[in-house]
Amino acid sequence: MIVDVLVEVNVGNQNQMFSYTVSQELQSQIKKGIRVTVPFGTRKLEGFILDIHKDDTTRDYELKEIINVVDEHPVLNDELLDLGKHMSELYLAPLIHCYQTMLPVALKAKRKVKLNIKEEKYICLNKSEEEIKLYIEGNKSVLQNNILNTVLSLKKVRKKDIDNQNVLRTLLKKELLKEIREEKYRLDSNDIIKNETHELTPDQKHVVKSFLEGDKETYLLHGVTGSGKTEVYMNIIDNVIKEGKKAIVLVPEIALTVQLVTRFQNHFGNDVAILHSRLSAGEKYDEWRKIERDEVSIVIGARSAVFAPLSNIGVIIIDEEHEATYKQENSPRYHAYDISLFRAKRHKAKILLGSATPSLESYARAKIGYYGLLELKNRINGKDLPKVHIVDMKESIKKGHRLISSKLIEGIQERLEKKEQIMILLNRRGYSNYLICSDCGYAYKCPSCDITMTYHKTSDTLRCHYCGYADKRRIECPECHAKGLKDFGVGTEKIEEELNKMFDGIRIVRMDLDTTTTKGAHSKIIKDFNNYKYDLLLGTQMIAKGLDFGRVSLVGVINADMGLNIPDFRSSERTFQLLNQVSGRSGRKDIEGEVILQTFNNDHYVIENVKNHDYIGFYNNEIKIRKRLFYPPFCFISLVRILSSDYEYGFEVSKKIGIYLRKHLPNNTILGPTMSNIFKVKNIYRFGCLIKYKNKEEVAEVLKNVLKQYDNNNKIKIEIDMNTMRM
Ligand code: ADP
Ligand code: ZN
Repeated sequence: MIVDVLVEVNVGNQNQMFSYTVSQELQSQIKKGIRVTVPFGTRKLEGFILDIHKDDTTRDYELKEIINVVDEHPVLNDELLDLGKHMSELYLAPLIHCYQTMLPVALKAKRKVKLNIKEEKYICLNKSEEEIKLYIEGNKSVLQNNILNTVLSLKKVRKKDIDNQNVLRTLLKKELLKEIREEKYRLDSNDIIKNETHELTPDQKHVVKSFLEGDKETYLLHGVTGSGKTEVYMNIIDNVIKEGKKAIVLVPEIALTVQLVTRFQNHFGNDVAILHSRLSAGEKYDEWRKIERDEVSIVIGARSAVFAPLSNIGVIIIDEEHEATYKQENSPRYHAYDISLFRAKRHKAKILLGSATPSLESYARAKIGYYGLLELKNRINGKDLPKVHIVDMKESIKKGHRLISSKLIEGIQERLEKKEQIMILLNRRGYSNYLICSDCGYAYKCPSCDITMTYHKTSDTLRCHYCGYADKRRIECPECHAKGLKDFGVGTEKIEEELNKMFDGIRIVRMDLDTTTTKGAHSKIIKDFNNYKYDLLLGTQMIAKGLDFGRVSLVGVINADMGLNIPDFRSSERTFQLLNQVSGRSGRKDIEGEVILQTFNNDHYVIENVKNHDYIGFYNNEIKIRKRLFYPPFCFISLVRILSSDYEYGFEVSKKIGIYLRKHLPNNTILGPTMSNIFKVKNIYRFGCLIKYKNKEEVAEVLKNVLKQYDNNNKIKIEIDMNTMRM
């Protein structure tokens, strides 16, 4: 018996399989899709068995024998094995990457992961909250108090999430805290918000019926914010389950969709498995096995949940389908929709894409009838969408209000008096974005990236948002040595400070990457805001999506046109989506909602369309531009990224690739080579050539050849990003 094994090695043709013989005693355990350990040069590696055949060829070298068998049951079933091959072709990615990306860490080949399947250690209070608070008051150890405060607010913290284990040990010894072990992982969102299911409205019923009875493979549900899309998803799944089938629900990011997940859990109970990035390796493995053993009918998760090994799938739902997180940024650069399509064909299942602001590509497909178009045009509460006011910041600045306009100040004041809630969006964290020398104009940049450092006042540090490099705040300019470095620009920290100065006693909670690093922090902020422990939720794009708070009647956006200046053909689309989504957080239940957008571009069509909640109008404006400039959906667009630590060499190679592409794809548009938007990250220079095209096969062939030419060149790294979402 001979087996063909795929292992992860970083040289040459990464799709090459290696043949091994199998000893008599292991033969009965051999199956396609299991992992085996094999000798490889001087190393031992894990790999997947992709093929089994008889030893009937003659060869003049001897094959090595596999060392042992890792799995009893295949980790890759037939469907996933085929899917990997499909992905490898589609994305020009090494086959091994495709398989590895499908599997939870514990089931990937090669890495040795110690599993912690059954138990998890947690830390809780061992005294009453009052006693602990008293202790903190009289205690000088900041480190101790930090831990105590965390446990105090979260009630239960995973032991390994606590940074300082030494201090923790002291607190355990003092019997202030205790350690408990729990059999099973419990979601931190379990007790968040109760949300019963409702009798569907006639509009919702119509959507469900059209979907279930229609004959298209993919449907796009375009429903305004608060129109009851989630309710529709649950109802469709009820029907699918009745037919004995299963469902996958994809969400952009679990942490940002706690409310949706909770609604599913309340409705479907234990029939739901949840896959998300903050689960430990053991927990993910458990969920994966649960799915595989057919113990659940529904899987909810972010992008990679699309690989969940469910049998008999009836529907795949992609919520907020326009989100860029559905595309993986490293190899294989897959889009969850492509994978859904493969699986839907295999299972004869249907796909439902949902959004209030569909991507231009999806809406165009729905308009030509390639997707079925379903619509929910009204909010559930029958109320109008919130009124949107545009504030021209050029005028506001003249009147002396640089950051927060008088209109927004009045709006906030009014909500505070009426005991309603406010949400403020500023899509930039930190305190200020630039340190610029007022003497010589020098802008303080990260030493390894081509980007200015952001000042964080809470930690009094400068930080690079690309590589994480941090440095002390400084006043002296490294160029001219004058003490002239001043900070410019505005981030969430500064707005928080301003608001606190303006409104006495206002209760503000800030939600951005800096305040949500610990596990459970998101859910806690959302829960507390929902329980009216705060008047105002301030945050980055994290607060824009999917949240449903009944008391919010004012949404303010500090710098509404910030995203419009990013050099990417999707910047208008992204800005429209963000502003439309965040506007949708206002006035969702019984109170009337209002939105205030502060902008410097008050006559830009994006701002105008957001003001009128006019997706169709936006689509019509934007599609004209895409057509004129020949961008998707009128063509496909893929990127060849060329990375090198040597600027000269990287540029040389990029020019060569540009020439090669123009020569071999004469009927397509090639742009570049150019430098990427952020052209140096962690000391690696980034160049790119962009291809606009219609014929996928032709382009794939040429790109394969480009890859081959640099296969063994370790001074250059070539990345191909098919249907790129990032310029
Ligand atoms: P979307 O996902 O489109 O933003 P949701 O599904 O969150 O909308 O619905 C908005 C609000 O309306 C939620 O609070 C939800 O519980 C409520 N809702 C949805 N459908 C109904 C219905 N048929 N009857 C009553 N309330 C509903
Ligand atoms: Zn950096």
